[in-house]
Amino acid sequence: MEKREQLYEGKAKKVYATDDPRYVIVSYKDDATAFNGLKKGTIAGKGVINNRVTNYLMAMLEKKGIPTHFVQELNDRETLVKKVQIVPLEVIVRNISAGHFASRYGVEEGIVFENPTIEFSYKCDALDDPLLNEYHALALKLATREEIDIIKALSFQINEELKAFFKAVNVDLVDFKLEFGKTADGEIVLADEISPDTCRFWDSITHEKLDKDRFRRDLGGVEDAYSEMMKRILG
Ligand code: UDP
Repeated sequence: MEKREQLYEGKAKKVYATDDPRYVIVSYKDDATAFNGLKKGTIAGKGVINNRVTNYLMAMLEKKGIPTHFVQELNDRETLVKKVQIVPLEVIVRNISAGHFASRYGVEEGIVFENPTIEFSYKCDALDDPLLNEYHALALKLATREEIDIIKALSFQINEELKAFFKAVNVDLVDFKLEFGKTADGEIVLADEISPDTCRFWDSITHEKLDKDRFRRDLGGVEDAYSEMMKRILG
């Protein structure tokens, strides 16, 4: 597969066309942003870690029957994926209170939920990714009822697989964000990334944060936390 022109540059990744219209190449950057781009920085080696971690987890999920956009890792930073139309919803699954759940509802972080929660944001930087419910998503025609049902079912299934996987490497999966895409034949597949940028990981024993909160909250040890997560995931 030959790499062609750049199609898009986002906050953490670039996307390139290939000589086959069914596929694109994603390239992971070290650039880090938080609070919708208000805080900017770089995390040395992040692109490599997020590329390798995402691919490892997506391949694992594929084996468990979850459809994903993953095709093949090309090198440390670049991966061949199916070209999809991204459903403009950020899907957030939570197992433990943290971040906006804690601030929005005025509760402490670290409350373990009896059942996972799911929420949607409208993927729109200009509006700051506003929270919305399924009725709003339908009214805005962001997805169909059938697509939303598939996305919810897949998200909870992914949560169960990831929770079990991370438990085995002594990590509590606190919460995470997923994005889904629609392939040319209309199939809904998991897209984007699963990484320390998009998940909250707490060490099961020490409860140390091993994710992007170290960058967001200026806790230091950002690179070490990302490396530690890659080590635990890839073995
Ligand atoms: N998240 C993300 N991208 C976003 C917003 C959230 O990847 O634009 C992830 C975040 O890393 C966390 C989870 O989704 O693992 C829940 O985030 P929350 O709603 O608490 O918002 P945050 O505090 O991260 O802004």
